[in-house]
Amino acid sequence: MAKVINCPCGTTIRAESDDELVELVQKHAREVHNQEAKREDVLAMARPE
Ligand SMILES: [Zn+2]
Repeated sequence: MAKVINCPCGTTIRAESDDELVELVQKHAREVHNQEAKREDVLAMARPE
């Protein structure tokens, strides 16, 4: 099942698996927000699409 996260900056991140979502969100957080996103936080924010 695909999952999405709507980042407060307006970016929508979508992935087909938890692992992919965590990877994409961590990359986005590092590159755009200079933050480290924890796996548990990413999954807590995720919504099924
Ligand atoms: Zn963002």
